[in-house]
Amino acid sequence: MKVTVFGIGYVGLVQATIFAELGHEVVCVDVDEAKISNLKQGIIPIYEPGLTPLVEKNYAAGRLLFTTDAQEGVEHGKVQFIAVGTPPDEDGSADLKYVLAVAKTIATYMKEPRIVVDKSTVPVGTADRVSHQLQTTLDERGSDLTFDVVSNPEFLKEGSAIEDCMKPDRIVIGTDNPDVEEVMHELYDPFSRSRNRMIVMDVRSAELTKYAANCMLATKISFMNELANLSEKLGADIEKVRVGIGSDSRIGYSFIYPGAGYGGSCFPKDVQALVRTAHGVDYQPRLLEAVEAINYSQKTKIFSNLQKHFGADLTGKTIAVWGLSFKPNTDDMREATSRVLMEALWEAGAKVQAFDPEAMNEAQRLYGNRNDLLLAGTKEAALQGADALAICTEWKEFYAPDFEVIKESLTSAAIFDGRNLYDPIRMKEQGIAYYGIGRGESV
Ligand code: NAD
Repeated sequence: MKVTVFGIGYVGLVQATIFAELGHEVVCVDVDEAKISNLKQGIIPIYEPGLTPLVEKNYAAGRLLFTTDAQEGVEHGKVQFIAVGTPPDEDGSADLKYVLAVAKTIATYMKEPRIVVDKSTVPVGTADRVSHQLQTTLDERGSDLTFDVVSNPEFLKEGSAIEDCMKPDRIVIGTDNPDVEEVMHELYDPFSRSRNRMIVMDVRSAELTKYAANCMLATKISFMNELANLSEKLGADIEKVRVGIGSDSRIGYSFIYPGAGYGGSCFPKDVQALVRTAHGVDYQPRLLEAVEAINYSQKTKIFSNLQKHFGADLTGKTIAVWGLSFKPNTDDMREATSRVLMEALWEAGAKVQAFDPEAMNEAQRLYGNRNDLLLAGTKEAALQGADALAICTEWKEFYAPDFEVIKESLTSAAIFDGRNLYDPIRMKEQGIAYYGIGRGESV
């Protein structure tokens, strides 16, 4: 099938590549000229495990094309995916300007009927707005061409996006047109050959399903963080509580890890957006508001533990920070806990020596001009001469460090672990002051 994808970011590039891998002919359109020119030269703009060889292979096979020419994209695909960003507006609601701009572009250039598929995460009612934009632009052209708008939210996780797209848990399709449903089957059936992975529903339910999924996951995290904070006050260890509750099959072990808050391009903005959507229909989403508030304060937890240890004044301190991406296996630093920590440290007059296995270029792009940030080449180099170590991301290579090297390198043997990677008892035996999340005061 001929497919066009608008917006070649984390979602668009992965999904386009996977479609091409299964034999579809895919044209990728982005407004970012540098990104498109790099992709044509085999330079992949993001770190995502397994992505580079798949892009190279499908580009070489001619099934994956990159362009900034929107007209070429609109003329190519019977199915037109919108996978552009939907960042938070000033009030936290999803900003739809990029989505509506693509809708306008499609209606401007289409010469045959098109199926417009919304893959970006968008509030309930957006398909109606996209339809309105398409119709208005077609009317302005005096065209009587027809179109369908489908909701097809994306559930991939950065860090395992290829696997998630190749073997999806579910493919949610929002449409009330059986013909469009058939086309979606043709497109997606190679991913779920028994057909039972596709869940078809009305458009509004599909739009809400995406927010419901992300808000449920964010709720699990904030719930565990609330319990972690309580554990500290009560002298309990949240890691033991986690194992204790996860063993109940109704609860399960997944996504109940306490930590220094969730970040990324999705959970924070999607919780906020659903809160704003609820306010818009005169409903107060008390649980979601609490999820957001807990996460906001949880992201300051490492900083307040540093103040607990060193005193309120951190002027002149140097803190080694391990892990800058919002989670492992990605270079994405959007809304990352590391950013909240580093910005608070700079504000307090402290310096940062940071290391991340994949996000150093992104850190350079974001903060490269600061003289109170040293971007270190290795995790050991980040420690040299620092006063303490703070861990923001649970990269595998941080799980079993040489604690002797840590002690020798730091002026004060103290670890502020935002991801509970180490055993507090072992830390005590090592003579290291250890501040985890929900594991009591420093031991
Ligand atoms: P991104 O910021 O990585 O990429 C968006 C791309 O769209 C950019 O390359 C930008 O240049 C391009 N763009 C903007 N306007 C355009 C236009 N008019 N025409 C063509 N391209 C245009 O975003 P992302 O992380 O891939 O997210 C995209 C959407 O998918 C968002 O709604 C997001 O919430 C949702 N989503 C993201 C993830 C994730 O893990 N990143 C997972 C599921 C859903």
